[in-house]
Amino acid sequence: MISWHYALALILVVSVASGKTALLIVDVQDCFLEANTTTGKPGSLAVPASHIIPLINQVRAEKSCLFDHVIFSQDYHPANHISFASSHGLDPFSHLGGLGGLPLMCLTPTSGSTADASCCPKIHVAPDSVNRSTTLSPPVGWNYTVNMSILVTGNTACSVCKDTPQKCFESEQMMWTDHCEQSGDSTFPPSLDKRAGDLIVQKGVNKHVDAYSAFMDDTATLKTQLDADLQAKGITELFVVGIATDVCVKWTVKDAIGGNTGSYVVTVIKDATAAVQGDQNNYNSAIAFMEAEGATVVLAADVLAMVCPVAVTTPAPTLTKNGTLTPANTAAANPVKATYTLPAVFFALVSLISI
Ligand SMILES: [Zn+2]
Repeated sequence: MISWHYALALILVVSVASGKTALLIVDVQDCFLEANTTTGKPGSLAVPASHIIPLINQVRAEKSCLFDHVIFSQDYHPANHISFASSHGLDPFSHLGGLGGLPLMCLTPTSGSTADASCCPKIHVAPDSVNRSTTLSPPVGWNYTVNMSILVTGNTACSVCKDTPQKCFESEQMMWTDHCEQSGDSTFPPSLDKRAGDLIVQKGVNKHVDAYSAFMDDTATLKTQLDADLQAKGITELFVVGIATDVCVKWTVKDAIGGNTGSYVVTVIKDATAAVQGDQNNYNSAIAFMEAEGATVVLAADVLAMVCPVAVTTPAPTLTKNGTLTPANTAAANPVKATYTLPAVFFALVSLISI
């Protein structure tokens, strides 16, 4: 005979397993900060963003009741990454010179994982197809095999897209400074509240493909580990902060709301984000873009004013001498955030019937 206490406990246990919330801190790393870095020097791709760290810390400290998990994304590039202008003999930010990004030819691996992805500079694959006057290109005389063999040797796209171009698709790569290297300043700043047990999702690890979004590579076809991790933890709601508003935060939010990931309700804490070069127009455009995509946009003060979810004590069942189940001493039980969802109740009842 199943007691009422056991039924209640089961319903609560099942209920709290759904609808969790995470604070997602995008790329708040030394490489993207102009100050307050581990070394005290500006980061390799510095953005005026150090002012957001105290806000992020305050939200975490004062509203920990809102977040079941805190997750950090980390731009984490190997040397000679495809996103570095120096890997192509070009100047950083040369994509802003009027010709756009550097054309690439990319493969979609059957695994669907960014770890297996590859892109190759189009001019290396099919030099005759690139018009230098209308297309961003490496300097005349640049030969990847000679000048940057590490980028093209062993790069599957460089061979497959040359022999069978129909298997590849075109993309573009913006040209950045050498930044967030695994052996460099991809580290987290000392003033950022980061704790043991926080999840870190690395992106841009594959030398042959870039990833702005914490969810996907830049071709929007290949996933990082983030979506699988969030779904495994039952997370359905995200509060997003970080760097940069108009690049990695923007594309992370778009992917979180879009159809290629799990279903997430997204809130952007806008004053806890910062734009590249502090550009207010790009910041405003990115905020409007995320709002149009379906994100709720708030200020840190709004989050700090939020009321914590109602805490209830979950009576974990204990076995008595006569074999019946009773709730544990509620004083010893941990208060947890509980949401009573119909699917959870249904599942609990089905479980009871099948016992
Ligand atoms: Zn990067």
